[in-house]
Amino acid sequence: MVEGLRGDPEVEAAYIQLRDSLVSMLGSVPVPVEDLVVLPKAAVAPGETYVAIPPPELWERMAATLAHVVRPLSHAVPVEVASGYRPPWYNEQVGGAPASRHQWFDAVDLRPRDDGDREAFGMFLANLYATRGDALRMGLGIYGNAARAHVDVSWKKRAWENAPDWLAKV
Ligand SMILES: [Zn+2]
Repeated sequence: MVEGLRGDPEVEAAYIQLRDSLVSMLGSVPVPVEDLVVLPKAAVAPGETYVAIPPPELWERMAATLAHVVRPLSHAVPVEVASGYRPPWYNEQVGGAPASRHQWFDAVDLRPRDDGDREAFGMFLANLYATRGDALRMGLGIYGNAARAHVDVSWKKRAWENAPDWLAKV
């Protein structure tokens, strides 16, 4: 892992490798790559951006989440990333679950860019989970009337928080 401020040469080199790798695996990346690696609550001066680039052996995990969930979702509903990679120290700092998949770079928290899209956002994710949850080994947490959702793939199928309510509507 490489972490530090955007602009630091070592950080930039790792960032560019990650970005190029995701582009080569996916063709195009459905969300800004910086949003997948920024640590928004890290203590930095105003105007500075602190990022953590996970080790390369984890990169294809995020490619799978982007390809199977984020890309199809973003075609239906414009979304933004609220939380991506979390190194263990940061996961602890922000109160993440101890086994959080954010530490393995296969989880993202997303929110609809437009509040008016919450229904479509929640239903899209519930439908995807109902149809492909087993195959993808998808984790789905839906929060606050679909203001925000957590998704991960490749680990274990499970749904929590408000996700069961949404699944009941599928
Ligand atoms: Zn999450």
